[in-house]
Amino acid sequence: PEDQAEPDPNKKTLVVLGTGWGSVSLLKKLDTENYNVVVISPRNYFLFTPLLPSCTTGTIEHRSIMEPVRNFLRHKKASVKFYEAEATKIDAAKKVVYINDESEVKGDSSATEVPFDMLVVGVGAENATFGIKGVTEHSCFLKEVNDAQRIRKRIMDCCETATFKDQPPEEIKRLLHMVVVGGGPTGVEFAGELQDFFESDLRKWIPDIADNFKVTLVEALPTVLPMFSKQLIDYTEKTFDEEKIEIRTKTMVKNVTDKYIEAEHADASGKKVLEQIPYGLLVWATGNALRPVVRDLMAQIPAQKDSRRGLAVNEYMVVKGTENIWAVGDCAVANYAPTAQVASQEGAFLARLFNQMAKTEVLEQELVQLSEEQSKKTGEERNSVFAEIKDVQKRLRRVKQMGPFEYSHQGSLAYIGSEKAVADISVWTGNLASGGTLTYLFWRSAYLSMCFSTRNRILVLLDWIKSSMFGRDVSRE
Ligand code: FAD
Ligand code: NAD
Repeated sequence: PEDQAEPDPNKKTLVVLGTGWGSVSLLKKLDTENYNVVVISPRNYFLFTPLLPSCTTGTIEHRSIMEPVRNFLRHKKASVKFYEAEATKIDAAKKVVYINDESEVKGDSSATEVPFDMLVVGVGAENATFGIKGVTEHSCFLKEVNDAQRIRKRIMDCCETATFKDQPPEEIKRLLHMVVVGGGPTGVEFAGELQDFFESDLRKWIPDIADNFKVTLVEALPTVLPMFSKQLIDYTEKTFDEEKIEIRTKTMVKNVTDKYIEAEHADASGKKVLEQIPYGLLVWATGNALRPVVRDLMAQIPAQKDSRRGLAVNEYMVVKGTENIWAVGDCAVANYAPTAQVASQEGAFLARLFNQMAKTEVLEQELVQLSEEQSKKTGEERNSVFAEIKDVQKRLRRVKQMGPFEYSHQGSLAYIGSEKAVADISVWTGNLASGGTLTYLFWRSAYLSMCFSTRNRILVLLDWIKSSMFGRDVSRE
């Protein structure tokens, strides 16, 4: 069958790392007939991250926001190879990617290398821990599906253990204290979802926990959601206050143990004090850090020496210091925030660029052939080939005219709990800042329309209906 086709030796091999926002948006728009396309990712699905916080409480089931890459790759015009593996090292000089099968089931071949002519790095980022002791061991992150599942299980575990016979009052308080570190959108959205879960379901099913269940959001900076306008920050803080979510700003976590965090803040006299905050569930959402494979690639390229946050790219997303490596999304530094919006626009831009590059090559080959033909012809025939050359040159100029990447910011949206959302939206009249229930309906419809496929859209809609009719499921899996 065509799916098993061997790579075409006349085409360049384009290797794409990752199946996240950047890579998948590239693959969606790429004309795969022009290249031998190979996709490598430890995850054989795309994840719609904006709705991941809703999976931690069961408002949405995680499978509703996952789309198997095989599902959409099989609809591409030419077959695409997919290897479920992690890229452990990229050798820029040898033009090879080393890959490892990290899954539970391994065959005789589980580590090998893949050569490339062109490479797109879209591996995203890791969770930042800033080397703070105990974070990795004791907290839950919120980046991948298994993180959301772990949190969901842990919330219920804390509730059930808190109601265990003869549990001492102090221990009940600790177990029911849900601490979120990081007041960026991930932390805020999760805190909102968790409080919703408590208010609309947990409180009903387990009345014993009602007096002690508490969500606290800890943020080192003076405000939460620094990327939103002042008015929306105030609105979020006011809403959290009404929802009884405590916000601890100007509080920097310095150490994490299995039962409490140690956080530094200034007291009334301005003196720094270290406070122990006991917790049952700790969710760590303090942003992004470099993946080792990216750090290693940067170390191989002298032009990347001053870059700290990721692969420095030029305005065509080419990794500076290379000619055949591009980077998109959270692992690339192009002066934009590490968001899905940016990653998907970058991916779509690269698809257009690669489609154009292939067209350029075809036209250039055509030109060479026509020039040869022209040299062999005389008279009228020579003139007609000349006219053809002119036409191809004109088409070539048009194709080569592709401008650099320009990001178009559509706005920022975040859910803040109790059926309220905040939105900073770019409209043609300027910026529109809005918060409240109407914004929440907008948030819902915007995210629904952005879902990867119709299948995802229907599943998410059904989950919303299901959880509003029957409540969220509180069984601990
Ligand atoms: P990712 O989407 O993270 O994809 C990286 C891919 O690379 C994954 O498939 C991964 O498995 C793969 N990979 C990892 N390591 C390797 C390796 N060694 N080799 C090969 N492949 C590898 N942004 C918004 O704009 N709006 C939102 O509402 C929003 N909500 C968010 C909610 C949450 C909970 C989170 C965590 C993020 C949210 N973001 C949002 C940010 C957004 O998800 C990221 O900016 C976006 O995912 C970046 O896309 P990416 O393609 O760079 O990386
Ligand atoms: P972030 O980088 O936006 O926020 C992390 C926060 O953690 C910062 O405010 C930082 O001051 C704080 N912090 C760091 N160390 C700390 C410590 N030791 N103690 C206390 N606080 C500490 O991270 P994020 O929320 O995970 O977002 C990552 C990216 O994904 C961002 O670009 C964001 O815009 C995007 N995102 C967007 C949405 C949305 O648009 N709705 C949702 C989630 C994520």
